[in-house]
Amino acid sequence: MISPDLLDILACPDCHAPVFLDGDSIQCTGRECRRRYPVRDDIPVMLIDESKALDPQAFDEALARRKEKKS
Ligand SMILES: [Zn+2]
Repeated sequence: MISPDLLDILACPDCHAPVFLDGDSIQCTGRECRRRYPVRDDIPVMLIDESKALDPQAFDEALARRKEKKS
């Protein structure tokens, strides 16, 4: 598992927004960026070349999942 402490210090290398764990990927919270980074062997791969930007609707759904978990 990826520790919450590690997630707290990670930021998107593209837009520098905070990130969070969504399923088995790391999701950027930047609305303009929306990049999603893979996790390999429990290590977040924070490389722009390895990431894919979500479309706006999928991004909103990811953020909604994050809020559900917190409450
Ligand atoms: Zn970003």
